[in-house]
Amino acid sequence: MLRLHDTALGAVTEIVPREPGRLSIYVCGPTVYDVPHIGHGRQVLVYDILRRYLEWLGAEVVHVSNVTDIDDQIIRRAQEVGRPPDEVARHYEEVYWDALDRLGVLRPTVVPHATEYVADMVELIGELVARGVAYESSDGVYLSVEKVDGYGQLSHQPLQSLRAGARVEVDEAKRSPVDFALWKQAKPGEPAWPSPWGPGRPGWHTECVVMSLDLLGEDFDLHTGGLDLVFPHHENERAQAMALGRRFARHWMHHGFVEVAGEKMSKSLGNFTTLVDLLDRTDARAYRLLMLRSHYRSPIEVTPATIADAQSGLERLDALARRFELRVSPSGSAAPDPEAIERFTEAMDNDLDTPAAVAVIFELLRRANAAADAGESEHARRLAATVAELAGSLGLEVGQVGDDVDDESAALVERRDAARRARDFAAADALRDELTARGWVVEDGPQGTSIRR
Ligand SMILES: [Zn+2]
Repeated sequence: MLRLHDTALGAVTEIVPREPGRLSIYVCGPTVYDVPHIGHGRQVLVYDILRRYLEWLGAEVVHVSNVTDIDDQIIRRAQEVGRPPDEVARHYEEVYWDALDRLGVLRPTVVPHATEYVADMVELIGELVARGVAYESSDGVYLSVEKVDGYGQLSHQPLQSLRAGARVEVDEAKRSPVDFALWKQAKPGEPAWPSPWGPGRPGWHTECVVMSLDLLGEDFDLHTGGLDLVFPHHENERAQAMALGRRFARHWMHHGFVEVAGEKMSKSLGNFTTLVDLLDRTDARAYRLLMLRSHYRSPIEVTPATIADAQSGLERLDALARRFELRVSPSGSAAPDPEAIERFTEAMDNDLDTPAAVAVIFELLRRANAAADAGESEHARRLAATVAELAGSLGLEVGQVGDDVDDESAALVERRDAARRARDFAAADALRDELTARGWVVEDGPQGTSIRR
């Protein structure tokens, strides 16, 4: 039985799904106004790992993740670049999915867009106004937080302390500093939708309430996101659902930050600037392995050094795959090791203790190699097949062979082999760099250059 740390509860608890064998998960998705950063990569990997693990266990997962395609930041970016906001959002959404595909994460089951749900949001805000929980002001509609029982419970902050710490933005016309905007009246030239409170756009906190309840229904299993979303975003989502008397998420799961020490941010020191930059320079699986080696609630450092360390772990997995000619799904001839699988699922069920789960995999790897060295080939094969099976359950595909090599990359490989035969190592190095930049991992073998993703 999977146990996870539930933010609202402040403890690790059993996840009993609303429907047996079927998990409904909502992940707060990106606001598409810029290229995805490395933290976006962590977010999608954490929930991809959770989803793949649940599916590996045999559960069905309904994974909804929204795209915020209208927002202040998008409008600001549109003004900066002189393009319409919808065009800006479309462009950055494309960049986002492209990066996620390269990262090897599964696409969500459903991807709702905020702009598709504006009419439903207007309806929900109308209900809140009708119940006297929300009020119209000179620049929009706000939720009166003090009228919501239990506000602050998710983030474990009493209303009194929130009120003391709140700052009022000068351009907001709200009654209390803790109130938040549900509807924002449009300024001239801004995109606008009709509403009983004048043309405008919804506040960010409303879309996820409407979309999660519409697509997953009340009492859905898991609402997730980064720790920075606990307050105010998730607290405010929850407040709207509660004010309407609707059951919201059964459990809340939040993941930790990506840390990059301040001075190391500079590209001149070799650090990664964006997710695309990271993917241009790294095997995507190395980022996944780096993530797996830390607990999802802990902060992680993503630097060339930590990535290189993960890369060397990956190389050991790939070397095992080559030695045993493993494929992504192991052959039936070598049944996996049930004892190791049990230890692995115990670790994963314990609040996704991926560091312990990965330790099981690498211990099996060592034992497989040792058994093969000792000539116990049948035993060794079974251990190696278990490595592939368990790594695959976390989305870490080892033994990838037969990647489709495009013609241009194949030509670069040929030119590189020719350069090496001619002992022109400068040219060979330059060609290696070109292949790496195209996303290939380049290896030198007795037969010449081989490349894989
Ligand atoms: Zn959200």
